[in-house]
Amino acid sequence: MVKKISMIVFLLFIINLSSAIAGKKEAMKMMENIHWLGHDTFKIVGEKVIYTDPFKIRKRDVADIILITHEHYDHCSPEDVKKIQGTNTTIVTTPDCAGKLSGNVKTVKPGDKLTVEGIDIEAVPSYNTNKKFHTKDKNWVGYIFTVKGQKIYLAGDTDYIPEMKTFNVDIALLPVSGTYVMTAEEAVRAALDIKPEIAVPMHYNSIVGTENDAEKFAEGLKGKVEVRILKEE
Ligand SMILES: [Zn+2]
Repeated sequence: MVKKISMIVFLLFIINLSSAIAGKKEAMKMMENIHWLGHDTFKIVGEKVIYTDPFKIRKRDVADIILITHEHYDHCSPEDVKKIQGTNTTIVTTPDCAGKLSGNVKTVKPGDKLTVEGIDIEAVPSYNTNKKFHTKDKNWVGYIFTVKGQKIYLAGDTDYIPEMKTFNVDIALLPVSGTYVMTAEEAVRAALDIKPEIAVPMHYNSIVGTENDAEKFAEGLKGKVEVRILKEE
């Protein structure tokens, strides 16, 4: 009997382990489709072409979906949106940013869920706790969206917030620069709570923050959460 139970426990352990490995593999594969264009700007290619917070766009392109987290100029930039907006592009953003844009724009607040061209998108809270640039009452957002079965979390300009504990994501794109957002150390705590398969530092090398912050972030998560520092494309 004891033997039988230990065999079952062992089998469960193996099943768990192999699904964990499979999960990591999927996330690693997805990383090939995630291009960092600097700051909080990513181009993610899956079923659709998704851009996040387009800023300092160098190459013209046509996005299917543009996700914008809040109205600050380095996230909500009408001139950069124009460079990637086509007639069929859907923009998802907060009302204060939507006011600066035209075309097919959907507005969101934290907690909203929507599906755009088959892509599931959830707007999640994103705010400062120890500074006043992004107060909670602004209702600015981060996004959790699903691409090829992988849940990707774009944090926006946020500090480490308690809601992060409830996020279930595969890939987390987290700010690390400090000043307007969480520091690398705080981002480490955030990643430990979120437990993604892969964490990617962002929000450095543009307005504030340097590669040092990204490295500090990777160092703090060594052996705990896999970190990918992306090359700016
Ligand atoms: Zn901001």
